[in-house]
This record gives sequence, C-alpha cells and structure tokens, in this order.
Amino acid sequence: MSELKLPGHVEEWLQDQKAKGSILNIWTCQGCGNRILCYHADAGVTPFMMTCDECGDTAQSCFYNIKQPTYVWFRPKTTEELMAISKEEYENSNREVKKNVTVNDVYQENLEHFNEGGVFRKAVGK
Ligand SMILES: [Zn+2]
Repeated sequence: MSELKLPGHVEEWLQDQKAKGSILNIWTCQGCGNRILCYHADAGVTPFMMTCDECGDTAQSCFYNIKQPTYVWFRPKTTEELMAISKEEYENSNREVKKNVTVNDVYQENLEHFNEGGVFRKAVGK
C-alpha cells in the first residue's frame, strides 16, 4: 500500500481523533451476531459485556483486538485531491491494467464515482 499523504481535511480529522485518544472497539452479540462498533471520545474503562441493541442478548468485547483504524472513507475536497487519488490508484495497479488504462482514464472513472456521491478509501496508520 502506498504511503502517500492523506488529503488535508482527512489528516486533520485523524490527528484530532488521535489527540483525543479516540479508538474503536467492537462488541459481538453471542445471540444474533450483531456487531456493535463503539468509538471512544475519551480514553477510559469500558465493559467486557453489554446488552445487544438488536436482540437483548449479551455482546462481548473483542478487547480492542482490531487494527486501529485501518482505513478511512472520505470525499476529496478538490480536483487536485481527486487527481492525487487517481495517480496513486494507477501507480498501485498491475502492469496488465496499465497496458489498457491511463491515469486520465482512472481519473475520469473516479470523477464519475465522485459525481454519483462516491467516497474513496485510504489506508491510515497501523
Ligand atoms: Zn443480538
């Protein structure tokens, strides 16, 4: 995965979350399998078990045993950001894809995705 910078507004949001000590945890319901995702605004102790919102059974913490956060979905704010995303996507594509597609093709495809309300995924710190 490329190490190119995140767009400014996404990086700002991420730094703000890190500054607050925010992390994600998941509680999985033993009854219905519902996964309850909780985002911590402040660091602190949380319960091992809690009641499932869906079925009322018991949901169990995964003890933060998930990668914190691995990806972020975002909307580019400028055409330059969209082009940077497209270049990165093109550079990370394999040789076979590059034979048939140009950076501009990728950009046009991403622009269409954007115009349909699409968001883009980017890896963040592991
Ligand atoms: Zn449940």
